[in-house]
Amino acid sequence: MELEFIEKWMTDTIENGRGNVIDAETAVSPECVGVRIFERPLIGVAAADDPLFTETFRESHVIGPLFRTPEEWLPGAKSVIAFFLPFTEEVRRSNRSRTDEPYGDGIGNQRSSSLWLHGRIEGQRFVDALCLVLCTFFINGGYHAAAPSLLPEFRVEGFNSNWSERHIAYAAGLGTFGLSRGLITEKGMAGRFGSVVTDAALTPTVRRYDSAFAYCTMCGACQRRCPAGAIDRERGCAEGKDQQICGAYVRGSFLQPHGPNGIVRYGCGKCQAGVPCEHGIPRAVRTS
Ligand code: SF4
Ligand code: SF4
Repeated sequence: MELEFIEKWMTDTIENGRGNVIDAETAVSPECVGVRIFERPLIGVAAADDPLFTETFRESHVIGPLFRTPEEWLPGAKSVIAFFLPFTEEVRRSNRSRTDEPYGDGIGNQRSSSLWLHGRIEGQRFVDALCLVLCTFFINGGYHAAAPSLLPEFRVEGFNSNWSERHIAYAAGLGTFGLSRGLITEKGMAGRFGSVVTDAALTPTVRRYDSAFAYCTMCGACQRRCPAGAIDRERGCAEGKDQQICGAYVRGSFLQPHGPNGIVRYGCGKCQAGVPCEHGIPRAVRTS
């Protein structure tokens, strides 16, 4: 099975999928109605027996022993397909400003924009649906497939989980980590990741980097953007983000239920918008 075929099929699904456009039933404000959440995807493949899965990710300074290999999620697994859905310019632009949406709660204009929050909630629903459709695609082709993050065995412990979409995308050649801990792809880090494990044999994508932080320039823009002071460039790329501070800030940013269906939306993402790695690999490290 060819990756190009899957890529075209996924792109068509994204461009025509209803869930990729904010509808009047869920929009928190009239300006959000009709806004497209995601651009066309980036897709990569990793071999299920890649040593990153079987060794590296299990090390305690990476993810840790709770990480489950593709084989543990799907016996007989041969490939892992990872995808990145970049947010559209409209969604990204909305979160660049610090003054776009005052909510009158003391944190005020450092809140996420409504469109960014839609990207987190409705966008994640779209990613989940896409994972299921991708599984169905393989199953209809006579293979087996599973989306680990949607299975009951998926679990989160502290700031780690037994299946990490960003790490899977790194293994599948989609990009490298940044100081803010997002994954910098050739379409930047503002967007969302998903993945599926299958026993279909696909050719792995070449990883065009030789270190986990190759695309981060350590420019410090994400540190300057962070309203919580969670990022410290002096501590280096691997240690420079304090997950506790970030998590507390994001949890503290719970909004009142709003929008027609009363969903409570929260988030931040200020370190992913208005930075050189928002929508591409920073120019200083780009090779073409
Ligand atoms: S803003 Fe600069 S320092 Fe922060 S992750 Fe992006 S490239 Fe790295
Ligand atoms: S998500 Fe917000 S609080 Fe967390 S590191 Fe990024 S900017 Fe800081």
